[in-house]
Amino acid sequence: MCLWEEVYEPMLRSSLDGQIRYLQQLGLLAIDQRCPGCSEFMMLRPNKKTCDGYSWVCLLKTCVFYKNTYSIRRNSAFSGSRLPLFKLFKLMYLWATEILLCKVERFVSVNRKTAGEMYARLQNIPEMICA
Ligand SMILES: [Zn+2]
Repeated sequence: MCLWEEVYEPMLRSSLDGQIRYLQQLGLLAIDQRCPGCSEFMMLRPNKKTCDGYSWVCLLKTCVFYKNTYSIRRNSAFSGSRLPLFKLFKLMYLWATEILLCKVERFVSVNRKTAGEMYARLQNIPEMICA
């Protein structure tokens, strides 16, 4: 099985929910998060206000952060970007297959500056990709 079939196709064929689960399986998104207020595990809940459609939320009524929401990208390679997860994954795939930055625009509709920022970020966290 090649990298495309093994890694890229499952993402390509998934709905947004499936993409999030898949990224969690790959270790690229957290499978759980603890609340910074009460340290209890937060729940992953649908949230139409976010571009990812989901966010982490604390549901402990006694917590000062009760019902506060946190991005599913928190502490991940995708944090700080507003690009859709699929597009970020595509950039990550191109980077992993050593597609030159100058050719990325042919595959993903992002400008070179944005692609360059993602490439630079990935180069700084190689252990995350190889895990
Ligand atoms: Zn809490």
